[in-house]
Amino acid sequence: MADRKAKKICIAIDGPAGSGKSTTARMVAARLGYLHLDTGAMYRAVTLHALQQHIDLLDNDKLVDVTRNSHIHFENNGSMQRVFLNGADVTEAIRTPQVTNSIGPVAANPQVRAILVEKQQEVMRRGGVVAEGRDIGTVVCPQAELKIFMVASIAERAKRRHKELQDKGIEVDLQTLIKDMEQRDSQDTGRKVNPLKQANDAILLDNSQMSVDEQVDFVIHKAQEILAADAGHN
Ligand code: C5P
Repeated sequence: MADRKAKKICIAIDGPAGSGKSTTARMVAARLGYLHLDTGAMYRAVTLHALQQHIDLLDNDKLVDVTRNSHIHFENNGSMQRVFLNGADVTEAIRTPQVTNSIGPVAANPQVRAILVEKQQEVMRRGGVVAEGRDIGTVVCPQAELKIFMVASIAERAKRRHKELQDKGIEVDLQTLIKDMEQRDSQDTGRKVNPLKQANDAILLDNSQMSVDEQVDFVIHKAQEILAADAGHN
C-alpha cells in the first residue's frame, strides 16, 4: 500500500518581476520540505554565459549552442540557494542589471525555452517541488496541483527590487528601475512563445498590501487543503 504521508504535490508560482515569487517559493519550499526551482535563474545563467562568450544574442545557432553548453545546478546553503553555471558559483553574477537587461532575446528564443523547459519538467516529474517563473502553470507543469499567479503594483514591485539591490550594494535609480521593469513586463507578456499569462485554474494573489509571512501562509494553507483532500480520498 502506498504511504499516504509520502504524497507530495507540485506548486507553480508565476508572476511578473518583483511580485515576490522567489521569496515566497523559497519559504514555502522550506516549510514543506520541498525543492525550490527558480526557473528565472536558469534564463539568467544562460544569458550570463552568452554575455561571457560575447555572442550576438540574436544569433540563434550560437545562442542555442551556449544553452546546450550551460550546465546549471542549484545547491542549498542553509536558507540560501546558490546557482552554479558549469561548476562556477554565479549566484550574484546573474542578478546584475547588465544580465537582467539582456534577458529579453534569450527568453524569447523558442529553442532556448524548449531546452530549459525540458530540464524543468524533468525536475518537476519527481513531485515535491515549488517552481517559480512565468510559464510554470501554463507550459512547464499545467498539471501542478496548486497554481498561484502573483501580482503587485509596479510601484510596490520596484520598491522591493530597489531595496533588494541596495542590500547587495548595487545602487540603481528608482525611476530607472520602474522603466526597466515595465519594459521587462511588456517583453514577458508580449512574447510569442510561452508569454507570462495566468493559467485558467491559477489563484490570483495580489500581494501589494501583504507581508511576506502572509503570502507564505496563504500558499501553505492552499497546499494543506489539497493535501488534506487527497488524504481523505485515500
Ligand atoms: O524571475 P526572474 O526575474 O529572475 O526572471 C528573469 C527573466 O527570465 C524574466 O524577466 C523572464 O524574461 C525570464 N523568465 C522566463 N520564463 C521563466 C522564468 C523567467 O521567460 N519561467
